Amino acid sequence: MEGGKLIIFSAPSGSGKTTIVRYLLEQPELNLAFSVSATSRPRRGKEKHGEHYYFMSVSEFKKHIKNDDFLEWEEVYRDNFYGTLKSEVERLWAEGKNVIFDIDVVGGLRIKKKFPKETLAVFVKPPSVDELKIRLKKRSTESEDKINMRIAKASVELATAPQFDKIIKNYDLDTALKEAHELVREFVGTPRLEKGEEKVSKK
Ligand code: 5GP
Repeated sequence: MEGGKLIIFSAPSGSGKTTIVRYLLEQPELNLAFSVSATSRPRRGKEKHGEHYYFMSVSEFKKHIKNDDFLEWEEVYRDNFYGTLKSEVERLWAEGKNVIFDIDVVGGLRIKKKFPKETLAVFVKPPSVDELKIRLKKRSTESEDKINMRIAKASVELATAPQFDKIIKNYDLDTALKEAHELVREFVGTPRLEKGEEKVSKK
């Protein structure tokens, strides 16, 4: 496998990494494309197959593991498998894109290990675990049990931050977006846009 750059954003669930990744995808000069992961977790809300995830059954997912189809995979929560298909990165590299990932810390570090030079691994740090709890409850897409599962995992994930190339503190969204943009721009080696050209949108 060879091609463009790999940009990883990892963080505990609710840290705001998805917002940052979406924002970066809107910046044309970065030439980014989103790596759609495979997952066995149920679809949430308006999520679409092939756009947010490739949704599949646990047995289908296990078949892909057996065939060595994954660059990395993880049972992030019990019976909820997530993984990056090799074919997904190959497809986007073939289109001449830099690939951006929104994945968990273990998967992110695995990709970094496989492609050390091609990868920029960024950890997004939330203000506190309490703030995470508030954000996840506000999102209200999951049951109390699932939220607690995500919170329990957050402390373990926070401890892995020093293993990443860069840490972005998401205490203030605008600041985090600008910092992320600058980091990625430097890494992919594209010139800075003139003042006023930068697109800022918060979703
Ligand atoms: P969610 O269920 O909220 O979409 O995602 C749960 C966690 O799984 C998040 O931390 C997300 O970043 C992570 N995740 C998503 N795709 C992948 C993947 O392909 N590999 C790994 N290791 N984690 C992933």
